[in-house]
Amino acid sequence: MKTYDWIVVGAGITGAALSYELAKTGFSVLLLEQNEIADNATRYSYGGLAYWSGNTPITRQLCADAIARYQILPQELDADIEFRELDLLLTIPSTSDPEIAAKSYANCAIPPRLLTVTEAGELEPLLNRDAIVGALTVKHGHIHPEKTTQAYIQAFLRIGGEIQIAQVLDVFTNAVKTATTTFASANVAICAGGLSRQLLKAAGIPIKLYFTHAEIIQTPPVDLRLSTLVMPANIQRFQLEAQSTQVDELWNQPGNEPVPPILDAGAIQFQDGSLRIGQISRTLTDPHAEVNSQASEQWLRTSIGKILPALENLPGTWYHCLVAFNPHRLALIGAIPELEGVHIFSGFSNPLVFVPPLAQRFAKYVSSKEDEIISQLLSDRSAKASG
Ligand SMILES: Cc1cc2nc3c(=O)[nH]c(=O)nc-3n(C[C@H](O)[C@H](O)[C@H](O)COP(=O)(O)OP(=O)(O)OC[C@H]3O[C@@H](n4cnc5c(N)ncnc54)[C@H](O)[C@@H]3O)c2cc1C
Repeated sequence: MKTYDWIVVGAGITGAALSYELAKTGFSVLLLEQNEIADNATRYSYGGLAYWSGNTPITRQLCADAIARYQILPQELDADIEFRELDLLLTIPSTSDPEIAAKSYANCAIPPRLLTVTEAGELEPLLNRDAIVGALTVKHGHIHPEKTTQAYIQAFLRIGGEIQIAQVLDVFTNAVKTATTTFASANVAICAGGLSRQLLKAAGIPIKLYFTHAEIIQTPPVDLRLSTLVMPANIQRFQLEAQSTQVDELWNQPGNEPVPPILDAGAIQFQDGSLRIGQISRTLTDPHAEVNSQASEQWLRTSIGKILPALENLPGTWYHCLVAFNPHRLALIGAIPELEGVHIFSGFSNPLVFVPPLAQRFAKYVSSKEDEIISQLLSDRSAKASG
């Protein structure tokens, strides 16, 4: 049986980028993904790159790394990932104070600029001016997340990486098991997104990694033109993440919902003219919990209709996925103490910005043991409890 240097579990953006960077560093790598056709958080993502948002020395460095990385990535991966810059529009509802909204972003490397209602309407003509008291704007990056992931995977295969479609059922030191095969490897990296916690739990490993059930509507290409990426200035999801994880134990049983669902009304148009309209986030602790798609779709349509009325009744399909998060750190990276050779690489804040540079840095770190940022993330992690 072949023994790989690394097995990477999960082929969303995280597993794809990490597999590529590990293979580029010279390791033999097997990427295992359970679904032939992507049905994951990467697939339904808006694709926004908040590279302006760094507010600590590490996050500012990673934002700078990310923008430099994305500038050369299309050429290095030899693929069009639709990397571009656009205006982000953060809406401030009529009930809020615009100055307070602006202040909450004051520590960012590039703080978004406050706009009057008229200025916001000029920037985004589809905006309902009556629903807001102002808006914030900043230049935002944008990629096609699924094309970027595929670009990483194709480049990985070209340099000798291997991929198999199989669900990993169990993880051990030096091996992973699927329904039909045991694959041997010196190291394993878990990049299973919202299913990472469940997979590690099956292996007897508790980890403080969580997930939301996210819901969106995707439209086919449409004639109308949305000029900006629209999101609320006060993103409720961050509060939901912090509150829902106060009692970790609740996440060990299915059937809990630590806090009620929220909806952050937002939308983005991709270069083919299709739109993603979101986003509901639910803290259902069962990753396989059913949600009422009809009620959710209605909630999404009504909410976006208040901000961008032209989008309310567009044709579109409701989708659901799991999004991994950890509310305390910018990522969960590093060896799992209880299982030698098994590593976690998941739970990123600002994932589309941080994953490419951290995948590159992680590959460098495991080959040379040198990387300032990875060393710091690892020591932060070991200073705190498990997870
Ligand atoms: C509506 C929406 C908008 C978003 N907008 C943004 C944004 O603008 N900017 C941003 O940075 N982020 C955004 N995000 C978040 C970001 O897209 C995700 O956090 C990121 O793509 C997650 O990548 P991942 O690889 O960790 O997980 P995923 O993409 O979920 O991939 C995990 C993969 O692991 C596989 N897997 C799981 N278990 C197993 C197993 N046992 N065996 C084999 N394979 C397994 C799954 O099938 C899946 O393909 C958004 C998310 C959503 C839902």
